[in-house]
Amino acid sequence: MIAPPPVYPVVSASGVHLTLADGRKLIDGMSSWWAVIHGYNHPRLNLALEKQIKSMAHVMFGGLTHTPAIDLARRLVALTPDPLDKVFLCDSGSVSVEVAIKMAIQYWQARGRPRKHRLLALAGGYHGDTFAAMSVCDPVTGMHHLFRGVLPQQFFAPRPGCRFGEPWDPDDVTEFAGLIGAHCDEIAAVILEPIVQGAGGMWFYHPEYLRQVRALCDAHDVLLITDEIATGFGRTGTLFACEHAGIVPDILCLGKALTSGYLTLAATLTTASVAETLSCGGAGCLMQGPTFMANPLACAVATASIDLLCESDWWQRSVQSIEQQLRDELAACIELPSVRDVRVLGAIGVIEMQESVDVRRLTPRFVESGIWLRPFDRQIYIMPPYVIEPQDLSCITDAVRRVLVEKGC
Ligand SMILES: *Cc1c(COP(=O)(O)O)cnc(C)c1O
Repeated sequence: MIAPPPVYPVVSASGVHLTLADGRKLIDGMSSWWAVIHGYNHPRLNLALEKQIKSMAHVMFGGLTHTPAIDLARRLVALTPDPLDKVFLCDSGSVSVEVAIKMAIQYWQARGRPRKHRLLALAGGYHGDTFAAMSVCDPVTGMHHLFRGVLPQQFFAPRPGCRFGEPWDPDDVTEFAGLIGAHCDEIAAVILEPIVQGAGGMWFYHPEYLRQVRALCDAHDVLLITDEIATGFGRTGTLFACEHAGIVPDILCLGKALTSGYLTLAATLTTASVAETLSCGGAGCLMQGPTFMANPLACAVATASIDLLCESDWWQRSVQSIEQQLRDELAACIELPSVRDVRVLGAIGVIEMQESVDVRRLTPRFVESGIWLRPFDRQIYIMPPYVIEPQDLSCITDAVRRVLVEKGC
């Protein structure tokens, strides 16, 4: 509220273009916080919503059910690895994380081990803005000091050090192994973002880390929650990031690209074993019932978005070619003294600067160059809709390079 930076009114959006009120068109490199994988104003997604709204926009999901929810749940079960075959639909990513944590806690209550109610998370993680979700975000970037005494206290292992695509060092998981071993009587679940840590620093880590975590969870009777809200639906080059490591979690969170950015919707999936066990506990069911659970419009557009993704050759034609182009066009940035690191995985390109970037100064320059990016902390990152054309992606990478070589950046 104090001296707010300028904001840009948008009047329409189509494909990868945002049209501002003054007529300027920007190429979107953000997919509206990583959600809009198929581009804006997509005819198939629009049609799915138009068809659905003619029969019903909403109906409560307690004691009633409907085809849009059933169709979506079936798609999600088919798409995700076995044995994830129970689906809980909710309003947003943060809520799906709350649901995942609640599932884990109720599971151990039902098994007569109520002391197992804490979480083991990773430094550098981000899981959302509601309270339980905040408690497992990175303690520093998640500003835990602001809510001291309010947030539940969780365990934190260091950020995985070994990078994706580089050699594995077995020492990387030593501290994690020590923590889970020492506190497994109190830990209900490990929660992490597989392979790509997003809003906590855009960091890509080694799949072996994830395999080791899975094995340690099994060895110590701890559930594994993977938060694929940012990575799900192809962003990292596999449909789900867990596939890079060939592991399956006990609980999986999905959101963001689930509806390709049309409406807010998220899903928490789990195994029949977890779902049935927790349902045999004192409460008799998962204690969560959001008012807008399984909203039919959101479900209909999510199903259409998944169908579009599955019909397209999303990997070869989109994500893989975006990855190659980002690698080619961003590589030279590492020569700039202000740049600390350049990394690319799937349809994600990151330029990490030596210092925190001045978003107030960079944003107008990007807008003048005809592109939309929203850097944070030291990260300038590009996460375009999968439908972006090579020349539009080049406009983004050109503009970034130009702005970075200008004096004062
Ligand atoms: C965005 C995000 C969330 C939170 O989702 P919201 O829909 O913003 O509540 C949680 N986890 C990860 C990994 C995210 O990227």
